[in-house]
Amino acid sequence: MEQLLNLIDGTLRPATGGGWLDVHAPATGQVYARIPDSDESDVNAAVEAAHRAFPAWNSLGREGRSDVLLKLAQLIEDDLEGFVSDESRDNGKPLSLARRVDIPRAIANFRFFATAILHFPSEAHVMDDVAVNYTDRQPFGVAGCISPWNLPLYLFTWKIAPALAAGNCVVAKPSEITPLTAYRLSTLCDKAGVPPGVLNIIHGLGPKVGAAITAHPRIPAISFTGGTRTGAEIARVAAPMFKKLSLELGGKNPVLVFADCDFDAMLKTTVRSSFTNQGQICLCGSRILVERSIYARFREAFVERVKALRVGDPSQDSSDLGAVVSRDHMEKVLGYVDLAKSEGGTVLCGGHRVELDGALKSGWYIAPTVIEGVGPECRTNQEEIFGPVVTLQPFDDEAQALALANATPYGLASVVWTSDVQRTHRVARALQAGIVWVNCWMVRDLRTPFGGVKQSGVGREGGVEALRFFTEAKNVCIKL
Ligand code: NAD
Repeated sequence: MEQLLNLIDGTLRPATGGGWLDVHAPATGQVYARIPDSDESDVNAAVEAAHRAFPAWNSLGREGRSDVLLKLAQLIEDDLEGFVSDESRDNGKPLSLARRVDIPRAIANFRFFATAILHFPSEAHVMDDVAVNYTDRQPFGVAGCISPWNLPLYLFTWKIAPALAAGNCVVAKPSEITPLTAYRLSTLCDKAGVPPGVLNIIHGLGPKVGAAITAHPRIPAISFTGGTRTGAEIARVAAPMFKKLSLELGGKNPVLVFADCDFDAMLKTTVRSSFTNQGQICLCGSRILVERSIYARFREAFVERVKALRVGDPSQDSSDLGAVVSRDHMEKVLGYVDLAKSEGGTVLCGGHRVELDGALKSGWYIAPTVIEGVGPECRTNQEEIFGPVVTLQPFDDEAQALALANATPYGLASVVWTSDVQRTHRVARALQAGIVWVNCWMVRDLRTPFGGVKQSGVGREGGVEALRFFTEAKNVCIKL
């Protein structure tokens, strides 16, 4: 049984209270590791260490910090296969996906922010003959970073890389459901030259460790990615303390398919945007809206492709989908299929658990599922399912497509398929979403602002937005 440890003040250690939590492998349903069941005292120790480390880390300067983060990126890359297999085992995702997306992106996050900080500009505003203003952006000290289980190292590093590059020290909490790659990262910090206390990684439960980070008076900023309900709880505690908050929350993303699109390209990508990572990406399209004139053609072709997807052993390249992340999550997702039926929906394919053979028999697998016949107001089309389940709805014209697309409390991402340039602009402007992909999906440039509107979040990550979040702007006005 593997025993993972916290990283506090440069040392790997168990929780002060001595407790442990089990970690399961979704592919088999079996416990394979334990993490420290940390609490407030571990968070306090990490915050103290981070404050002690801050002056030296900050005064290392941009180049010095950049060197350390680039070294960390290189060490992950040198151990790529180790990270890939840990990520797949911990999350249930296909090994091939972790190798293609998760770990390369974690490396890219470090490289991107290690170099972005070198080019992070400050502005100057000259008032003719009166004065000159310049914006001084300084790190604030210690940042709290809390991340979810769906893209474990990818999203964890998406926060800690800009926080560290900007000159802050970090107290970070990975998801207790997928702690393995964050732990593996913590074992590389010393070798990369990350000074003790600069990056602290505390394992444990959200309501204990996450809540202690959120409420800690010496952590002035929280960057959180996770569920909308958790985001609301974090805001409830942190807002009256006037903390900076970046909240990346849930989604119920629409895919708008117009009759004039490139049908084959759309079909291929829509299968991916529906079921990559078992549908457990906040950016997956879960409501597919199709112009009525091609609805029947789309339904037939889409369902045929989805039925051909292979659910199987995540370690095999032949598997398109692996396991979903936990038994609870599997039951939640299957509960939504039952709900859809009770709301009048028809399951066109999938809708059930998949039982594999041998050691994988108790794993948490779900057949990719397509549902039609549920109206826009139904819970199935309003609530985030976050699994391999999509719904189909027809529309008659652009106005109806937009009304359906915007008819949820969420507004993270959306996808538009059309070959009409004018429509592209109209629809992109009218969509209530932080991200619009046109004739593509998951094409990511790390310089672009990333985040959602409505209940999908507050603030933006990525590029300059992240570096601004992790610094405080001060205007300095000098009389001429
Ligand atoms: P979650 O909200 O349950 O947990 C996220 C993290 O918050 C975990 O580390 C958890 O331990 C911690 N946490 C739980 N309760 C807490 C509390 N009271 N105080 C502080 N921290 C607490 O989310 P999840 O189930 O891990 O992840 C899935 C959710 O994340 C989905 O809703 C998905 O849409 C969302 N997500 C959003 C984005 C985005 O960029 N918008 C990206 C990925 C995932």
